[in-house]
Amino acid sequence: MTKSIHENGTAASVYQGSIAEYWNQEANPVNLELGEVDGYFHHHYGIGEPDWSVVEGDAATSHERTTRELHRLETLQAEFLLDHLGNVEPEQRIMDAGCGRGGSSFMAHERFGCSVEGVSLSRKQVDFANAQARERAVADKVAFHQLNMLDTGFDTAGMQAIWNNESTMYVDLHDLFAEHSRLLARGGRYVTITGCYNDVYGLPSRAVSTINAHYICDIHPRSGYFRAMAANRLVPCAVVDLTEATVPYWRLRARSPLATGIEETFIEAYTSGSFQYLLIAADRV
Ligand code: SAH
Repeated sequence: MTKSIHENGTAASVYQGSIAEYWNQEANPVNLELGEVDGYFHHHYGIGEPDWSVVEGDAATSHERTTRELHRLETLQAEFLLDHLGNVEPEQRIMDAGCGRGGSSFMAHERFGCSVEGVSLSRKQVDFANAQARERAVADKVAFHQLNMLDTGFDTAGMQAIWNNESTMYVDLHDLFAEHSRLLARGGRYVTITGCYNDVYGLPSRAVSTINAHYICDIHPRSGYFRAMAANRLVPCAVVDLTEATVPYWRLRARSPLATGIEETFIEAYTSGSFQYLLIAADRV
């Protein structure tokens, strides 16, 4: 464990060392085969109604059709997040906090023409995403850095927008939003899509605890987001409950050869009401 922290110059704690190690070693087909469909690699979940015909018909092509369909749904999720980033001008700069292999960063650059900085603890992800930026000939505008999003060192008020796509459950929200608030320009926009546990049901359910153990993360309560935003000059302007929209993705994934074993736990967590999939957008005031 100590070794991984030394190897990863940015990890500020034993915990962050183990997150970096997890993502350096991660090579699930569900994360790689989906990206290979069109070259946009995502490590997040999907939303929207699947075309269920993909699990039927010719068995030989079903795997490929299901893979394409899961990728279409995860792409829809990223589009939906970017729809909430507001107006971003080509000369402005935005940040993908916890960027994974950078799929959303490239989509954002194509949409806005602006500079995008992606940050991840994982050296492997950062190298992969920078190689993609070079291949796409956008390396002057889209750059990936092995950095801790709690302490990026980027200029104060230099970012017009920041997002976390399924990466807030790895950090303390007060620390995260303090740094985002420092980096965002006044009037800038913050967006997250995240799983959170529903405070109405009290402490995390067994299914939520199972998800935490599976991903070595710490899913926050819904209320924690609004408390930490309010304390850091981030005022919510949109909250969308995507729980119902994500359940079909999980049902399709559970029936696909790409299932990793955590699918039924997500379905149970969401359908029991103890877990929610939320988009929260906020203005930096
Ligand atoms: N947002 C991406 C990846 C989500 S996976 C996508 O939508 O595809 C979670 C990501 O969070 C991983 O890349 C992991 O390295 C990153 N992460 C977790 N804690 C972090 C931290 N403290 N600083 C920077 N990145 C972090």
